[in-house]
Amino acid sequence: MTRFDELGIEEKILKAIDELGFKKPMPVQEKVIPQIIGNDNRDIIGLAQTGTGKTAAFGLPLIQKTNTSIKRTQFLILAPTRELCIQIADDLISYAKYKEDVRITPVFGGTSIDRQIILLKKGAHIITATPGRLIDLINRRKVDISKVNTVVLDEADEMLNMGFRQDIETILKETPRDKNTLLFSATMPKEVRVIASKYMKDPLEISIGKQNAGADNVEHICYMVNAKERFLALKRVVDFHPDIYGIVFCRTRRETQDVAEKLLKEGYNADSLHGDLSQMQRDAVMKKFRMKSISLLVATDVAARGLDVDNLTHIINFNLPDETEIYTHRSGRTARAGKNGESIVIANLKEKFKIKQIEKQIDKKFSYLPVPLGRDICKKQLFHLIDRMEKVTVDDTKIDSFLSEIFKKLEWLDREELIKKFVSVEFNRFLDYYKNAPDLNIPFDSKDSNKASFTSSNYARFFINLGKTDELQPTNLIGLINDFTKTKDIPVGDIEILKNFSFFEVDKEYTKVLLDSFKDKEYKKRKIILEIASQKESSGRRRDNFRSDGDRKRPDRDRKRGHSFKHGRRSERSFNKKRKTR
Ligand code: ADP
Ligand code: MG
Repeated sequence: MTRFDELGIEEKILKAIDELGFKKPMPVQEKVIPQIIGNDNRDIIGLAQTGTGKTAAFGLPLIQKTNTSIKRTQFLILAPTRELCIQIADDLISYAKYKEDVRITPVFGGTSIDRQIILLKKGAHIITATPGRLIDLINRRKVDISKVNTVVLDEADEMLNMGFRQDIETILKETPRDKNTLLFSATMPKEVRVIASKYMKDPLEISIGKQNAGADNVEHICYMVNAKERFLALKRVVDFHPDIYGIVFCRTRRETQDVAEKLLKEGYNADSLHGDLSQMQRDAVMKKFRMKSISLLVATDVAARGLDVDNLTHIINFNLPDETEIYTHRSGRTARAGKNGESIVIANLKEKFKIKQIEKQIDKKFSYLPVPLGRDICKKQLFHLIDRMEKVTVDDTKIDSFLSEIFKKLEWLDREELIKKFVSVEFNRFLDYYKNAPDLNIPFDSKDSNKASFTSSNYARFFINLGKTDELQPTNLIGLINDFTKTKDIPVGDIEILKNFSFFEVDKEYTKVLLDSFKDKEYKKRKIILEIASQKESSGRRRDNFRSDGDRKRPDRDRKRGHSFKHGRRSERSFNKKRKTR
């Protein structure tokens, strides 16, 4: 295992990055750092997935090489967006914590140029810049890049995507011929190759991992819904993850604004980031997001490009990007620095092809999951609430003075009632909202996807030899399940009561519990037979094979007359199916 000191990093920087928690170099750093420190002035193209530590790969050696005995600008870093420009500067400043003499100055548009000019006058060894503002400053002769040693083009592909090609060329012409050029990118489209061949000399190409591949520890998940139900699905996904901290990607500024506004109106902690906002507004949003006072940032690709926000749990593609490469960038915003994350796509059937293309590009398969149902969400939220309550720290000194009065007031409630009431105070909103919430899933065949089973994936289906003739009803069937298993916690799905027998679904985890507890049991003096039925169309097949009880009628006729009580998982889905085929 290589260490940072073995790459030639000096003591003062080692101390700073140790405090940042960098224990060992990431692969791109291991390759790039010695090259830059080694002073052999080779141009470098660094290709690595997002979140693999490219900033430190060029940032650490540049800080080390800065000559603080002179004032002039030695290094220039270009980045596509204002946010990224600020972030790189911040990162570099933290690496240079014990090298206070190194002056790092970000310059970017949308904010007062005068302040930046004042800062630049004090001397800037390292400038991080967005192309437009830098050109402005060059024209005003407030920046001199004619003697820089190295130019870094960070997120080069995005800069070109954003139409900065002309600006980049203008800037590069202001720099000395014998400078070094370092180009970093997650992808390598043609346009980048063109710039590289035009402006770089014999670049060393360092490519980490599979090019264009998604970060390894991102799980890719797809929910298929009707296009018009995208927003509802988004809410389900968010509600299903009480601790969500993520970015919701939209395609246009308008959509971004729209989704954020709707989320806000419905009480979610969300805000939007897009190009129509002033710099001050954007800064404010980013600050709130980093401090986690916003848990959902609704953003366009351009606004969120390259942003490194720690510990994002989710990336949600509210709409898929037009270019598959952009998906890589989006999903790369989560699972950074070895952590896990989920990249979620809310899609409709028309987008199946696009998803296949993305799968090819990232060389990974999507898991197709059913959109969480109201009941699943309620359960998740409820337990989240309970967990929080269990873990909350109680500050005795502060609440002691109120407690005796409160105890007295609540004296009449026993423990169980008390718990019920406390939980309900918080929880009724969810219960109400999801009381009659429809199933948003659409019938969808994803043959070659690695889904378990799109419908009722968490449920096992059972056959039981009791039906309407036994006066079985959904309620007493649930009663039996509760009695025999001695718990009320087992989630029950579809129940289909037919004349002489029935089918029902139970959370897969409880398959064995159920089979065991129903063994040798009787119902109204009849021995109960409980068997696992195969999924989905099983009821039909099962009926054909049904032979165990000779004195009963052929069951397939029962089907037509059979009352089918449905609740939970599949009811709405079947409804959708009907609606579709009509
Ligand atoms: P990239 O530019 O490749 O997308 P970043 O440079 O933004 O990625 O780094 C991603 C995250 O990894 C940042 O939070 C950074 O602080 C962290 N990081 C970088 N290098 C290391 C390291 N050697 N050990 C641990 N974390 C690191
Ligand atoms: Mg980066």
